[in-house]
Amino acid sequence: MYKSYLKSILLLGLVFITHLGFAQKSTNSKTEALKKEVIGALEAKSKTAQEMVDMTFSFSELGFQETETSNYLTNILETNGFTIERGIGGIPTAWMAKWGNGKPFIALGSDIDGIPKASQKPGVAYKEPIVEDAPGHGEGHNSGLPLVILSAIEVKKIMEREKMAGTLIIWPGVAEELVGSKAWYVRDGYFKNVDACIFTHVSSNMGVSWGDAGNNGLVSVEFKFEGSSAHAAGAPWRGKSALDAVELMNIAWNFKREHLKPTQRSHYVITDGGDQPNVVPSKASVWYYLRERTYEDIKSMYDEAILYSKSVAAMTGTKVTHQLLGTAWPGHFNKPIAEALYKNIKTVGLPTWDAADQQLARAVQKLVSAPKKDYKGELIDGLATKIDTLNGPVLFSSGGGSDDIADIAWNVPTVVFRYPSNIPGTPGHNWADAISMATPIAHKGVVAGSKVVAATLIDMLTNPKIIADAADYHKNGQTKDVKYITFLEANTPAATHLNKQIMDEFRPQLKKFYYDPTKYKTYLEQLGITYPTLEKRGTE
Ligand SMILES: [Zn+2]
Repeated sequence: MYKSYLKSILLLGLVFITHLGFAQKSTNSKTEALKKEVIGALEAKSKTAQEMVDMTFSFSELGFQETETSNYLTNILETNGFTIERGIGGIPTAWMAKWGNGKPFIALGSDIDGIPKASQKPGVAYKEPIVEDAPGHGEGHNSGLPLVILSAIEVKKIMEREKMAGTLIIWPGVAEELVGSKAWYVRDGYFKNVDACIFTHVSSNMGVSWGDAGNNGLVSVEFKFEGSSAHAAGAPWRGKSALDAVELMNIAWNFKREHLKPTQRSHYVITDGGDQPNVVPSKASVWYYLRERTYEDIKSMYDEAILYSKSVAAMTGTKVTHQLLGTAWPGHFNKPIAEALYKNIKTVGLPTWDAADQQLARAVQKLVSAPKKDYKGELIDGLATKIDTLNGPVLFSSGGGSDDIADIAWNVPTVVFRYPSNIPGTPGHNWADAISMATPIAHKGVVAGSKVVAATLIDMLTNPKIIADAADYHKNGQTKDVKYITFLEANTPAATHLNKQIMDEFRPQLKKFYYDPTKYKTYLEQLGITYPTLEKRGTE
């Protein structure tokens, strides 16, 4: 009796286990089928990808002034059923687009701003601005949001048909070059209920990493001094020079460098050095980026810089105020999401580059004197043909750049997916980085990248374990000992005044070169560029 009872329990258990296994398998095969479907659908979207990438490229807008870009992209999202909330974080060009219902809430973002003086014709391997001295996409931020929008629209179609729960949230990294928006979004609660975030960034390969990214966080802060003017020859003893204060502040900081850790980076520009030499400058200002590897070290540099500004104000009899213009934490990214995403990177793989793409890449590498090898010791020769490995936390870092995506990553499980739309070995923040950004290299990179993001979205929507593991890593790994503290006060405004003057000056000239897809197949065609043009033709 007892024996047969035991036997039936065992049997029942066995049936249950096989049933579970079957359910798991059928979910897996369903997921795989949906991923295959969305990848195929995105392959058919290469024309749309090209238009969006070229259009955004042609707007060439700097941080906080991305009005055309934001209008264009939100219009596409609205047409596709997303609801837009504009002006988030007190930033006119920022927004959040939402579609779906219930959990999981998945945010998809990318930066949209350009680089000063980076205007450059695409597809030509020499310097030739579209508009002399105008801004341009010398970082490639014209490609990331087109990529995530493509993914989201195709995944939405599947979610509707399959009646899948979940909410897709699209958002732009406004003024990333000024690290000026993401900490504000976080402070104002826009990421409060978000379960996961996939951020995309242009690169010359496909990759993702998790853990400590090894980069620096920063504060961007402007010090404004005010003294009093006087005739610089007639009565200089009556003047109190604000420029003296700026210069003394810079001297003090440059002496301080000797006693800072080698991981720090600090740099400044004088934003106001007075008006003309015969007037003792009553106003002067200097803008600092202070970067370090930890919150504590950034904070200590920030506090010291404020102390120095007050000290030189005392020395010169001037008054000083400071304003925080931007901030970012050092990066740390989510392991379970990175692992899930990396599987899709392997499935999708790098785009197929043709001879023209490779010719342009090699000519640009020659043009910029690209290093022979990358930081991993891999040869730099043309476009990437081997996908990057999945990288874990860095063990040693000598510091480097910053990205305010970190502020979101310390609040929400986040990864940065890098997609291949640029040429390896370019210097970054340079006109040469714009050359590929409205060519087939960028277009193919964006389509390939959109497939990876879409496939990962399908994974997250069909497998709740990814979201649960991501939350667990975030809570019990990443933020167990390190707690996020913002550098912002409750009322610190976003520095939306930045770049206004430059855009007011150049927008009318750039407008003449906005891409018109109703007349031209590509932006290259509109500009009359044969792809690729490797050498500048002499004047006949
Ligand atoms: Zn960037």
